[in-house]
Amino acid sequence: MDNKLLEILVCPLCKGPLVYRKPQQELICRGDRLAFPIKDGIPVMLESDARELDPTEEIPK
Ligand SMILES: [Zn+2]
Repeated sequence: MDNKLLEILVCPLCKGPLVYRKPQQELICRGDRLAFPIKDGIPVMLESDARELDPTEEIPK
């Protein structure tokens, strides 16, 4: 995914920064513990499409 795009993307809920998890193709919001999917290289920034992180799931820095 484009790094520039990543820089301007924020969480739609808290407007916080996102962590790009490359292997899973997800964007993680640490504050909300949500993972937004990246489909065909396009981040889907919808709360309805986001996955809730498992409590034990480690969030990359
Ligand atoms: Zn958030």
